[in-house]
Amino acid sequence: SRPLLEVENLFVEFHTREGVAKVINGVTYDVRAGETLAVLGESGSGKSVTAQTIMGILDMPPGRVAGGSIRFHGRDMLAMSAEERRKIRGEGIAMVFQDALSALNPTFTVGFQIAEQYRIRRGLSRGEAKRRAIEILDQVKIPNAKQRVTEYPHQFSGGMRQRVMIAMSLALDPEVLIADEPTTALDVTVQAQIMDLLAELQRDRQMGMILITHDLGVVADVADRIAVMYAGRIVEQANVHELYANPGHPYTIGLINSIPRIDEKGQELRTIKGLPPNLMRIPSGCPFHPRCPRAEQVCTQQLPPLLQVGPTRASACHFAEEMVSRG
Ligand code: SF4
Ligand code: MG
Repeated sequence: SRPLLEVENLFVEFHTREGVAKVINGVTYDVRAGETLAVLGESGSGKSVTAQTIMGILDMPPGRVAGGSIRFHGRDMLAMSAEERRKIRGEGIAMVFQDALSALNPTFTVGFQIAEQYRIRRGLSRGEAKRRAIEILDQVKIPNAKQRVTEYPHQFSGGMRQRVMIAMSLALDPEVLIADEPTTALDVTVQAQIMDLLAELQRDRQMGMILITHDLGVVADVADRIAVMYAGRIVEQANVHELYANPGHPYTIGLINSIPRIDEKGQELRTIKGLPPNLMRIPSGCPFHPRCPRAEQVCTQQLPPLLQVGPTRASACHFAEEMVSRG
């Protein structure tokens, strides 16, 4: 089947007084119904900006889409009218933000905020909309949904508030759910609960899910495929097991090595040396070369394209074939 959502060769720039930041530099990925794609990268890698561009909340100054397409059911959203795009938002593609507290309106009850969507977008009556709001709060496993529907965002714990945020995003039955660091602000135990909930909802509803995270440890059990981003590009894409067992890009190896392991307590965390590049001055050749332990001369001069190096895997490293075949 055709993917629900296809991002192809997307370029996004930020025009600022200091210069042009090239934040997305040719990103291509897709997601199908019933599948979870994790998009992984450090902050500034472009993973959130790609999502915001899909949602149509970035295509305004200083942000500018400089090329590429975003197709939903085969139709390019970047070529649609604002009205058509608005209709897709919420019903076709919805987003869960990292910080529920700032994404929710503090002055309205959570029930009102959810019910508004049913009233405005579905034309439901006040009573029916409230009933549906309770139903969806129930589906995200908020205890006593019937009482809690009349409470304000600040009356919920961090984890419960994130459930409210998820309920909001699911209200109009989206086909694709984008979750941007949905658990980053939460305690570790609550993180696991929210991740389990998202996985369950994705399965039950057969949604396509894009899970954005900087934490490879969080997505291992949930994702089908992983796209690793660096400096606004995808540097490796593979199914989860392949990526873990046999990473095909030095940056992926660095990310895997920096996952804290409980059985290695006391051992120093091996992080990737150096910092992500300044997007106004992306290094020549392979943008990862200043940090790459495997870099050679060619890496400073030639940009490695993202090439297929296995049935389900692509990598953007001059030595990808070698790395993958060595296992
Ligand atoms: Fe490292 Fe070179 Fe591969 Fe880039 S192309 S990841 S610098 S080995
Ligand atoms: Mg982000």
